[in-house]
Amino acid sequence: MKLILIVICLGFPFLSLLSQSTENKLNVLDRKAYELSIEKNPNKELINLEKNIPEILLDIRYATPNNFTKQVIYKEAKAYARKPVAEALRKANLEFMQLGYSIKIFDAYRPYRATVKFFEIVGDTRYVASPKNGSRHNKGCAIDLTLVDTKTKRELPMPTEYDSFRKEAWSEAPVSDPEILKNRTMLIQVLSQYGFRVNKTEWWHYDFLECSGFEVLDIPFEELE
Ligand SMILES: [Zn+2]
Repeated sequence: MKLILIVICLGFPFLSLLSQSTENKLNVLDRKAYELSIEKNPNKELINLEKNIPEILLDIRYATPNNFTKQVIYKEAKAYARKPVAEALRKANLEFMQLGYSIKIFDAYRPYRATVKFFEIVGDTRYVASPKNGSRHNKGCAIDLTLVDTKTKRELPMPTEYDSFRKEAWSEAPVSDPEILKNRTMLIQVLSQYGFRVNKTEWWHYDFLECSGFEVLDIPFEELE
């Protein structure tokens, strides 16, 4: 409605902008379209991380109320990623295991509808991805994770809690505790060797860099089994 009023008031320059925004409409794949896409490119398959990397732990927070929305977003606690992402994560975990640690996943592939829901709840793109663009999680190309001690299964001390909006969560924020600094540095460095780049404002979020051509997906976990 607002846009229509602007066009009426200000005329033609806005009409071209409007047609542009329609062209840029996000391409979101449902299950059928996803299945067709993996026939053409098997690398696009979403891999169940728990099944393919048996040593990793899951703590899928959006399947519980223990997350920043305080709401249960996922019906099931599952972690999926595209095939090359899963393979890189498996190799990174082997390296962590040689050091006595293992990966624990908070979130991986995130169905697009969850991103829409986050935006409905928070309504601020400083904190959540805009549904207009989707997020790399929606493409099965980003993982939120931390490390645990292999023996005790306890999380290693890190600068903040998962999903903290504090400045201390920034991946280059100063850290005074040498143990925490060592843990964060190890996490970032090892994952970077396997093609993952840490997010600037979230020490736990890693984007896999070789993800061009992977579309935003809107398939709930229960439809992936
Ligand atoms: Zn993330």
